[in-house]
Amino acid sequence: MQTIPTVERDIPLNLYKNVDPLLVTVERSIRLTPPGTPEVRHVVLRFPKDSFHFLEGQAVGIPPPGLNERGRPNVPRLYSIASDRDGDDGVGTSLTLTVKRVMYVDENGNDRFGMASNYLCEAAEGQVLRMTGPAGKEMVPPDDPSYNLIMISTGTGIAPFRGYVQRLRRLAASQRGRVLLYAGAKTAAELPYYDEWQALATEPWFTPIYALSREQSTADGHHMHVQDRLREGGSDLWNLVTQPNTLIFLCGMKGMETGVNEAFQDLAAQHGSDWSTQRAQLVAEKRWRVEVY
Ligand SMILES: Cc1cc2nc3c(=O)[nH]c(=O)nc-3n(C[C@H](O)[C@H](O)[C@H](O)COP(=O)(O)OP(=O)(O)OC[C@H]3O[C@@H](n4cnc5c(N)ncnc54)[C@H](O)[C@@H]3O)c2cc1C
Repeated sequence: MQTIPTVERDIPLNLYKNVDPLLVTVERSIRLTPPGTPEVRHVVLRFPKDSFHFLEGQAVGIPPPGLNERGRPNVPRLYSIASDRDGDDGVGTSLTLTVKRVMYVDENGNDRFGMASNYLCEAAEGQVLRMTGPAGKEMVPPDDPSYNLIMISTGTGIAPFRGYVQRLRRLAASQRGRVLLYAGAKTAAELPYYDEWQALATEPWFTPIYALSREQSTADGHHMHVQDRLREGGSDLWNLVTQPNTLIFLCGMKGMETGVNEAFQDLAAQHGSDWSTQRAQLVAEKRWRVEVY
């Protein structure tokens, strides 16, 4: 069995809880998506030196202020960290979040904002917030650039992958695996960090593949989704999936795993293989990682 060199016991977890959170300062908050589209913001949080440690792929919790209907403090909502362990500036005292301001209609037909996402999106630069975490082990990749990574995202699910790629760019490597980013969004303008991905496409090891449902169509005229792009991957993608040093990560909207599985099922069948056997092996070897919300 392939050994993935992430030492689980070394993954920091829950250094700060809701009863005793870390105070962090909003250093930067910029809107990534254009006006008139769902708002997604890039939020940089600064913390004191040596007060917080995390790995790529982990999340932090942001508790909205106030009490819930039972008079208890509001529970933190999780947000994936979109930078690597050293932060966007490489100093090691910040992390980045990619936050979508959630909107919904309540039972009385009124437009509402999600509590934590609205709080985070409204937070002004210089404002101090409470933060918990780090949380999660599932999405922590091996800290070794020789692995192949197939990263599949929808919406803000792209956040942890920005952290992975930032880390990979900073690690010196004599041997690099291939890194494929399958990113789904409605339009290029709504795809978080589109310009960064485009700029990185010149790296020989990195390939961004976009599925822009309102700008691109499949051959049979349907909206383009990530599973359609996976089907287009053909033998090149299937060969990569079957290599023992390849990991597959899915992150984003609940339900995306179904379409992705169907696409891999089709790819496997085209290559005379059985996806359920291949997938079972990937799961057993911790090379199939999923985080959907
Ligand atoms: C591991 C993980 C990582 C995540 N990473 C990210 C990330 O990187 N970026 C990101 O933007 N999000 C991320 N999320 C999602 C995030 O944690 C929150 O779930 C999201 O921001 C919504 O929280 P909220 O407090 O804004 O909304 P809430 O106030 O909690 O509302 C959430 C939903 O509950 C329903 N609801 C609540 N109150 C009512 C009511 N009165 N009537 C009817 N319906 C109601 C609505 O459907 C609403 O959309 C992640 C989640 C997980 C689990």
